[in-house]
Amino acid sequence: MNFKDTIKFHGHACPGLALGYRVANLALKELGLRARDEELVAIVENNSCAVDAIQFICGCTFGKGNLIFKDFGKQVYTFIRRPHSEAVRIAVKWQPPSEDPETEAMWTRYSDGDRSAEVIAVVQDRKARKMNSILAADDAELFEIKRVQVELPEPARIYKSITCAGCGENVMEPRTRMVGDKLLCVPCSQK
Ligand SMILES: [Zn+2]
Ligand SMILES: [Zn+2]
Repeated sequence: MNFKDTIKFHGHACPGLALGYRVANLALKELGLRARDEELVAIVENNSCAVDAIQFICGCTFGKGNLIFKDFGKQVYTFIRRPHSEAVRIAVKWQPPSEDPETEAMWTRYSDGDRSAEVIAVVQDRKARKMNSILAADDAELFEIKRVQVELPEPARIYKSITCAGCGENVMEPRTRMVGDKLLCVPCSQK
């Protein structure tokens, strides 16, 4: 799985994806796994572009239940090899080099919605440079790597389906809410 294929999956090339690409490959190397091995579980602490690279390269996906999202807003990724609790925690410590005042001003214009050719050119150029420096850096420059013990999350269970008394659609049992004498799905219970 090279970076080009990862870009195809994600839809565009960006520094975040490059970071995720490096995290994913490091995780496979650290845990001695091949790409897409099923016994790998990833706990991601953000939902940025980087996570797409992890899904694509490591095969840790939302649907399979081996991608766990913790909304902490941190560039931290923990990979666990099932059935052991052997895990590696990868924290991004890399900081992008500080921008010159001129570039800074362009970024401000960009985030204010300016999409002029002049602004786009500078923004694209800086993004490409950032991406390339991430791809070229050593693991030690990018990451703080630690071996940790992690409690394994429970495997996905299959639940009984209940028909919601409000909308008539099926809902898995643990997500139903009793309102008065009616068993409702979450959206109906909030009406
Ligand atoms: Zn992206
Ligand atoms: Zn309902």
